[in-house]
Amino acid sequence: MNAECAAEVDEQVDPSGVRLSEASSLSKTPVCAVCGSKDSGELYQGLRRCGICTFVWADLNIDPLKMVELYGDNYFADGEYLNYRCEEAILKLNFEKSLRRIRQYANGGTLLEVGSAYGYFLDVARTYFAVSGIELNKSAATCAISRGHKVYQGGFLDVNLPDESFDVVVCLATLEHFPEPDRYIEKIARLVKPGGVFYFSTCDMGSWFARVSGRKWRVIHPPTHVSYWSVKTLTRILARFNLGVVECKRLWEYRSLASLLHLVGVRLRITLLQRLSKWHVLSRIPFPFNLGDAVFIAAVKPVVHRVAR
Ligand SMILES: [Zn+2]
Repeated sequence: MNAECAAEVDEQVDPSGVRLSEASSLSKTPVCAVCGSKDSGELYQGLRRCGICTFVWADLNIDPLKMVELYGDNYFADGEYLNYRCEEAILKLNFEKSLRRIRQYANGGTLLEVGSAYGYFLDVARTYFAVSGIELNKSAATCAISRGHKVYQGGFLDVNLPDESFDVVVCLATLEHFPEPDRYIEKIARLVKPGGVFYFSTCDMGSWFARVSGRKWRVIHPPTHVSYWSVKTLTRILARFNLGVVECKRLWEYRSLASLLHLVGVRLRITLLQRLSKWHVLSRIPFPFNLGDAVFIAAVKPVVHRVAR
């Protein structure tokens, strides 16, 4: 689940083939995961917005087995991603940039990546950290393990890890995938050592580009994307779990020319561009990309100084 999704999807059918109307099930008493309010209303079909804190989520009811299926073999190729593995070199350019940001706050120790995919970020981070990862996709986790990484294959909430055992926890383009995100962030906050950092990227629904795009915003595609954040809601939920934002940036990233052609081809319904995007050589050509609708945030867990009596 690394690097923001390159592939745009048909508005009626998500990459897994699940029709939104089939998956949708309006909860009887939807509760905001950020502030706990029950005051919410429909923003767009299938999406709810909290009336108190403005957090937006997809009102879906998918069983855990279906979640595993969503992140199965089609996820990283011809699904949410055009071809993740072909883009390794480009992804690593972005990951090295994130690593430089992280090293401003922690320059060694233990690092956990939640959603570590094929281990490309772990590849670049292991020069400075003792790295490990968690990945739901079995093929991706197996590939990372085969290259020497310690990766837990499974869901983040199911993996047992000791509290305060990581200097850094990283989630790159992962928070939008979390259903019940308060449970995930609560666990992340527990895993981070005092003085440690939680570094992540996600999409910003409060950005001008998201607001102008409305329901057609490129990021809105449940059921894989289910939580839609803004800097305001992120800051609020992080504070709730004692994590303080120390950096929030809208960084330029590299995308492959293939993913860019696909994005434009799908949006403008130009079949030729969609066909060209399948040409693998274009997956290796980087293209600078920044629509201002993605944020990179570092949040630090404070050190508690106990006064000796
Ligand atoms: Zn709320």
